[in-house]
Amino acid sequence: MKAAVLEKYKEPLSIKDIKEPVLAPDGVIIKLRACGVCRSDWHGWMGDWTGFIPPLPHILGHEMSGEVEEIGKNVRNFKKGDRVIIPFTLGDGTCPHCLSGHSNVCDHQVMPGFTYNGGFAEYTHVPKADNNLMHLPDGVKFVEASAMGCRFMTAFHGITSQGNVRPGDWVAIFGAGGVGLSATQICTAIGANVITVDISDDKLQFAKKIGAVETINSKNENPAEAIKEITKGGAQVGVDALGIQETMLNSILCLDKRGRHVQIGMTPFGDKGHLKIPVNDIVRREIQFKGSFGMPISEFPGMLQMVEKKRLEPGELVTKTISLEDIDKAIHDMTTFSGFGVSVVTKFD
Ligand SMILES: [Zn+2]
Ligand SMILES: [Zn+2]
Repeated sequence: MKAAVLEKYKEPLSIKDIKEPVLAPDGVIIKLRACGVCRSDWHGWMGDWTGFIPPLPHILGHEMSGEVEEIGKNVRNFKKGDRVIIPFTLGDGTCPHCLSGHSNVCDHQVMPGFTYNGGFAEYTHVPKADNNLMHLPDGVKFVEASAMGCRFMTAFHGITSQGNVRPGDWVAIFGAGGVGLSATQICTAIGANVITVDISDDKLQFAKKIGAVETINSKNENPAEAIKEITKGGAQVGVDALGIQETMLNSILCLDKRGRHVQIGMTPFGDKGHLKIPVNDIVRREIQFKGSFGMPISEFPGMLQMVEKKRLEPGELVTKTISLEDIDKAIHDMTTFSGFGVSVVTKFD
């Protein structure tokens, strides 16, 4: 099969013919129909994320949707030709976290595109398919599904489950990349008021287009102060979609008392996974600090239903559809944070 292979970190991907994945008895082989290019792919390509450094050679790509091509003998819920979406965190289905509906923090988690070969190829494999795959409703296209495959679903879980955002809440979102823009759309759909913060006017304009009530360019003003003024006291929820010291701190400092900070962005290798937090402020004002990682399979039906009914439109975030050969450029463009929205691979052969 044809694949874009990472042979050396920070070097161009090689387009190659390689062996197709091996089918496990509880797994399925998926024929990829769409796969988004994500900032996490950039981190995988850089090899700079503690705990998420892919082995080499490797096939990146984790925002996947496609058709079931082949099923293992123990698989019950899927058949050849089924349209599916694949979460980027896969659980074993048997540990206490999976059993309580939190497969995104499974004790034996695997991640396509990080711990084994992902979706920048014609085919990929999904283990424990009955626990990890989700049927795609007829009304949801493959490209839309891939646009949901990581950033959108991560934002959905962060906003609805971890951030517990309610109608009327003020939500400050730091970073208008894939996660931040998705979060902007999701908060708007559930009736919250979004303030999106970034340093790019183009991205902020896009955020406004998809629902942000206010936008702040943090190059020009102190975002925490501006947010306190707009909200007359502070936001109920802050979301750091980037994972750098400045955005995390501002997301905490912009909150009203008893506000919830949701940390979605992970910090790069240079910080060794550690950032400083304002402890006294968090204690005195009873701020909650919550991590949020991916989305458990148990929350997919709600999100897919909102997409099918057009209450959420992940497809709006897709600015480009590309082929395997174009992935290199799409990843490279992320180095300078140029370009916005989501690029999705739709041509694999
Ligand atoms: Zn991703
Ligand atoms: Zn598990």
